Amino acid sequence: MDTAFFVAWIEEIAHVIADQRDHLTKLDAAIGDADHGANLDRGFSAAREALASADPPPATPGDVLTLTGTTLIRKVGGASGPLYGSAFRQMGKTLGDAPEVTPAALAMALEAGLAVVQRLGAAEEGDKTMVDALAPAIRTLTAALEDTPADGSYGPVLEDAARAAAEGAHATIPLLARKGRASYLGPRSIGHEDPGAASTALILAALSTTAAA
Ligand code: ADP
Ligand code: MG
Ligand code: MG
Repeated sequence: MDTAFFVAWIEEIAHVIADQRDHLTKLDAAIGDADHGANLDRGFSAAREALASADPPPATPGDVLTLTGTTLIRKVGGASGPLYGSAFRQMGKTLGDAPEVTPAALAMALEAGLAVVQRLGAAEEGDKTMVDALAPAIRTLTAALEDTPADGSYGPVLEDAARAAAEGAHATIPLLARKGRASYLGPRSIGHEDPGAASTALILAALSTTAAA
C-alpha cells in the first residue's frame, strides 16, 4: 500500500461519512448531542481537501495520515476530534517515512492508534465507545495476517477486519455507556448503537473498499 492508496482511503472515508452523516447524527441524537455526523463530515472533508491542496503533496503514507490527523484535530471538536485526530497522527508517526506499507505494518500502526485513543480517553472495551469497534478489528486483522502467505492478497483480510468492526459496533447496543457524553444517561444509554463505534466501522469499511478497488 503506497501513498496513493492512503490518499484514496481518506477520500473513501470522506465519501462514506458524508453518505452516512444523517445516520451518525441520528445515533448521536439518541445518546449524545446529535453532532457526530456533522463533526466527522466536516473533519474528513477538510482532510480530503488538505491532502489535495498540500504543497508539496504528501510524499509517504505516514505524511497522509499525519496531515489527516492534524486536520481532524483542527476541524472536529468534541470528544471524537482529538481522539480520531491523535489516532491518525500516531498511525502516521508509526509508519515513519516508509514509501510502502505492508498489511502487518498497517496492523501495527492501527494498534498504536488504538493505544493513543485509550491513553487519552481511558476507555476499555465494553465501555460503549469507538474502542469497541477498533479493538476487535485489529485483533481480527492481526490473526488473519498470521494465516495469510506473505505474497497473498490482503483484500479478504481487510474485509474480515471491517466485518469485525461492524460487529463490534453492533455489539455496543446492549451496553451501558461508561465514557463520554452517553455515560451521563446511565442506563438510558442501553439499547442504542454507539455513534463513534459506528463511525469506526465505516472507517474500516472504507479501508476494505479501497483495497478492493
Ligand atoms: P461529543 O460527544 O463531544 O459530541 P462526538 O459526538 O463527535 O463528540 O463523538 C462521540 C463519540 O466519541 C462517542 O460515540 C464515542 O464513541 C467516542 N468517545 C467519547 N468519549 C470517549 C472516550 N473517553 N474514549 C473513547 N471514545 C470516546
Ligand atoms: Mg456528539
Ligand atoms: Mg458535541
